[in-house]
Amino acid sequence: MDSRDIKIDNRQRIYRYIRKKKVATKKDIATGLGLSLPTVTQNLKRFLENGLISGEEKLEIKSDGRNPVAYRYLNEAKVAVGVSSTRNHIRLALVDIDGNIMASVEKKHVFERSGKYMKLLGRLVQDMVDAAGVDESKLLGVGIAVTGLVDEEAGKVIYGKIVDNEGLTREDYSKYIPYPTKLIHDTNAYGFCEVWLSSDMGSITGLPDAFYVNISNSVGGAMLRGEGVFLGDGLYSGEIGHTTLVPGGLVCYCGHKGCADPYCSVERLSSHTGGELDAFFERLAKGDKKMRKVWDEYLDYVAMLLCNVRMIWGGSVILGGYLRDYIDDYAEDLMDRIDRRNPFGEKASGYLYLSNNRKPVETGAALYYIKEFLDKI
Ligand SMILES: [Zn+2]
Repeated sequence: MDSRDIKIDNRQRIYRYIRKKKVATKKDIATGLGLSLPTVTQNLKRFLENGLISGEEKLEIKSDGRNPVAYRYLNEAKVAVGVSSTRNHIRLALVDIDGNIMASVEKKHVFERSGKYMKLLGRLVQDMVDAAGVDESKLLGVGIAVTGLVDEEAGKVIYGKIVDNEGLTREDYSKYIPYPTKLIHDTNAYGFCEVWLSSDMGSITGLPDAFYVNISNSVGGAMLRGEGVFLGDGLYSGEIGHTTLVPGGLVCYCGHKGCADPYCSVERLSSHTGGELDAFFERLAKGDKKMRKVWDEYLDYVAMLLCNVRMIWGGSVILGGYLRDYIDDYAEDLMDRIDRRNPFGEKASGYLYLSNNRKPVETGAALYYIKEFLDKI
């Protein structure tokens, strides 16, 4: 490391230290990190100037009569907005540095490839920011998570068949959003949120590795590795919805037959109850024989898919998406079915985790900006 790298490294360590402890004195930091007092002082001054910490607080007078200043970590010093645009909904969240949701909005609105729709996105973002009373200088940016494969670097939807958004760009989506924006594949935002919130405050200790499986109206996945989402040169790593489960089987929205998507999508369930997933699970819980049969078949396919994921990945697997909201009563059954397929005698209870996060897509989209901020501090 050259002297500039050491400087940046020290700065990040000091910030992380305060972030973890919430309140710390200069001496705590110097002792805790093995740094000189001048180095600590210089960095604290910079954080104070940038509004990242406050330094007003005095700790109780110690026995030696000295009264050291305590510096406090400010989790709302920076914020980011996440937007989730799906076929039927627009959801937004305003998130602080720790990933806490400070405000959120949900609007039922069918996606349209139109200027009117993009205008609505812009208005919803601005209304939420205004209502929350956020000082705009604190707003890092707006992550826009969309259904479809996204080349995140180029900012373009490269495959969009679930909703008609193929070819749309970051500029299209953010035409009416007066802040920096990023375009993100929603499954990646989902997975990113999962590993971030399950880790020790995000990038403080680095992100754990996990394969995130999203089972909603469509089926997808994301591989989370250390620094973030592993995309692969095809930019679609983890697209398990299009692995073949049944050769020559049901037609997938991609046009091929037998993909996992039509077998594991929750629409397979809700199609029996007029599109209402709640109603399906209500009837299942009441012992409805027809629903029981549908569920039994469905759960086998989900088990097959999750076992395939475990075999390919060999690490932690997180189950999220709409199915997650209903799986608690059936989790044991699901895990048994996976275990019966596992050739190594492993127990799914040891590697399969059920997501516990609310609003993971919009939160994850916002966290892209939080991570970038923390990495560059
Ligand atoms: Zn397919």
